[in-house]
Amino acid sequence: TRGIKLRSRPVGWPDAGVFELAELPVTPLDAGQVRVRNLFMSVDPYMRGRMNEGKSYVPPFQVGELLDGGAVGEVVESRADGLPVGELVLHDRGWREEAVVDAARARAVRPPEGISPSAYLGVLGMPGLTAYVGLLDVAGFQEGDAVFVSGAAGAVGSLVGQIARLRGASRVVGSAGSEEKVRYLTEQLGFDAAFNYKTDRPLTEQLRSAAPDGIDVYFDNVGGDHLAAAIDCLHDHGRAALCGAISGYNETEQPPGPGNLFKIVTKRLTLRGFIVGDHAARMPDMINEMGDWLRTGAIRFDETVVEGIENAPEAFLGMLRGENRGKMIVKLA
Ligand code: NDP
Repeated sequence: TRGIKLRSRPVGWPDAGVFELAELPVTPLDAGQVRVRNLFMSVDPYMRGRMNEGKSYVPPFQVGELLDGGAVGEVVESRADGLPVGELVLHDRGWREEAVVDAARARAVRPPEGISPSAYLGVLGMPGLTAYVGLLDVAGFQEGDAVFVSGAAGAVGSLVGQIARLRGASRVVGSAGSEEKVRYLTEQLGFDAAFNYKTDRPLTEQLRSAAPDGIDVYFDNVGGDHLAAAIDCLHDHGRAALCGAISGYNETEQPPGPGNLFKIVTKRLTLRGFIVGDHAARMPDMINEMGDWLRTGAIRFDETVVEGIENAPEAFLGMLRGENRGKMIVKLA
């Protein structure tokens, strides 16, 4: 069986050379462990931060060691009570075809009929919870709010916009990196307006056209100029959930901050950062509500699927470049 190791730490934009496909030995299980044949693994933006040295909110990957991350697979050998052979589990030993997992770090999952197990890496998993708590708890979304979300065609952003619509937003606006994604947002996900940030038109101008009456809530996946434009367009007492700043993840210099921070004072804005791991207690609420929306077709969730462990690095790099619509997933078996 095979897995992907970190060959070297990237500086700036990573390329295929920082990854190494390795043949892995099959080791015997200890008591309390299961062997899992991974069906799907996740590639996520936060993994870019883990490729750097130094502590962020998750420890860094080690050079020469396997990468890890979210995965769903089938138990093929078990020395753990409660996780028999055949059980589907969600765990954190991705980036490999077969994983030895401590039962305490695995959760049995039973996908609803017609739903792929990969949903636990997206709409019914970490990105789903991020969208749900970021919008509802961190930004304090209220019915009637006008909402702007950046990174709107990605895993988290596509859910933020749809949850806002389903919970009664007065207007839902998104930004994304291509005309095709802009059409996807308005024609398929029910956004009221969307714009392509990769044009020469200033972001504030584009956001003003898309939300002529201003916005109450901003969900920030991108940072930088997007945050500055949102500060320009937020109403007095507006709120922002700061979820990510992907526009800066591959920068080698610290990007300059928005030049309009004083408007936070004059408009009495609230900007709150959050980390989804602190909100695990809301997972059952999210799964209930999102599960209903999925069953009734009220919410739509797309995946961009890349096949094979040998292509996992390309999937990760493609996600950073914006080649995904919805969640980027690697199918392993
Ligand atoms: P996505 O599925 O949204 O994939 C990343 C997307 O980022 C790409 O598709 C691309 O879309 C966009 N992107 C890349 N570079 C830029 C850029 N320079 N400017 C604007 N957009 C860019 O990823 P996720 O949904 O998994 O994550 C979205 C954000 O949420 C990330 O910032 C991530 O770090 C954050 N996050 C934070 C969590 C938390 O606990 N705080 C938990 C999970 C995610 P495009 O074509 O539109 O450019």
